[in-house]
Amino acid sequence: MTTITPHEELNVYQSAEARFDLAARHLGLEEGLYRYLKYPSKEITVYIPAVMDDGRIEVFIGYRVQHSLVRGPCKGGIRYSPNVSLDEVRALASWMTWKCAVVDIPFGGAKGGIICDPEKLSRTEVERITRRYTAELSEWLGPEKDVPAPDLGTDEHVMAWVMDTYSMHMRHTVTAVVTGKPLDIGGSRGRHEATGRGLLFACNKALERLRLKPSDCRVIVQGFGNVGSVAAHLMHETGYRVIGASDIHGGLYNEKGLDIPKLVEWVHRERKPLPEFPGGERASSRDILFRPCEVLVPSAVENQITSENAHRVDCKILAEGANGPTTAYADAILQEKGIFVLPDILANAGGVTVSYFEWVQDRQGLFWRENEVNGRLKDVMEHSFDEVVAVRDAHKVTNRTAAYMIAIQRVASALRLRGLYA
Ligand code: NAD
Repeated sequence: MTTITPHEELNVYQSAEARFDLAARHLGLEEGLYRYLKYPSKEITVYIPAVMDDGRIEVFIGYRVQHSLVRGPCKGGIRYSPNVSLDEVRALASWMTWKCAVVDIPFGGAKGGIICDPEKLSRTEVERITRRYTAELSEWLGPEKDVPAPDLGTDEHVMAWVMDTYSMHMRHTVTAVVTGKPLDIGGSRGRHEATGRGLLFACNKALERLRLKPSDCRVIVQGFGNVGSVAAHLMHETGYRVIGASDIHGGLYNEKGLDIPKLVEWVHRERKPLPEFPGGERASSRDILFRPCEVLVPSAVENQITSENAHRVDCKILAEGANGPTTAYADAILQEKGIFVLPDILANAGGVTVSYFEWVQDRQGLFWRENEVNGRLKDVMEHSFDEVVAVRDAHKVTNRTAAYMIAIQRVASALRLRGLYA
């Protein structure tokens, strides 16, 4: 089994591997199963030619990595970012396997990405790139095979183009091929807010365990996109005091509490820069992470909390809204500091949970009311939290290792039952 070295700290695939290794060792996982689960099942690279608005032809590189199909169809988002790499997509695909297994939904893990900067592309260019990427992957996608969803740089409209392109190839409408769609074409009520809402449910459980009340808690949120802004909004409504927020443009701080509904309006409806909001002092996006608070919610990108800076984190609960915001090397430092970590594969699992509900609703052709979706999500998040802390207490491990242990055990059990097809 491998151990990572410091210069590999920022390689997310190495980070993912290190967590998997540690949990597999605690479980005493057989060497053969260890080897099977460590590697992805399939990695697909596509070169996507697209006609740009000025008539030029550009070629973009896209990936889809399917990590595991052992417990069901692959599930995982599609990311559009200049920083996409095969290693990143590999790591994110394996995290999806473990995430789906922690919350016990019948999916394996996958992830996709295209190396591009959506901020520099027009909507028509994004549409053409999305449709060609989907067409290239059409034989590997499908409700029973691999079901994408939105991630960084993609939204519900991109999912609508994926669904339409796939459906055109199949010659009939296939809503369940993708989740995170608009409501009018088979989306689920509550999906847009699901990741932030799931994070809130997990945080509320952590507060109970630490005997804290929302009104005792100052919250700082890094990243103010789908996950961060919804989490901030719902936490504000629940009585938490959100004192800091940031996005790619910078941060904002107000010890008395930011007016989150107005900030959401400012950023998402009026499309104004977050740091220019008049209700707080400006701060750098990085600096905001190290201000004292009770709940820190990194919900932007990977590798924000590292062995270099983890000693500066000053919170009681670290709720990982983003995937991989903490490096494996930082884990031990956070543990020494006694920080209660809600690991990404649990804390942000609300999104994939409601994606699962969307897939179920699409397949049964019967749609649920929002309170039914939210009620089922609450049940899944609270139950999963209880399972993770039970394993933590029984095995004297961190929440992260406990979550991985539960997930690996579930996937390994399915694999033992199915056996290896040779
Ligand atoms: P998004 O594109 O909607 O928002 C990302 C936010 O992060 C934006 O506000 C952006 O300005 C900000 N940001 C980017 N780089 C930053 C930096 N260096 N410092 C501070 N802010 C920065 O994306 P999202 O859907 O909210 O996803 C955020 C994270 O959550 C990703 O890691 C994603 O994989 C993860 N996640 C998303 C979902 C989901 O349902 N959307 C589910 C699970 C996990």
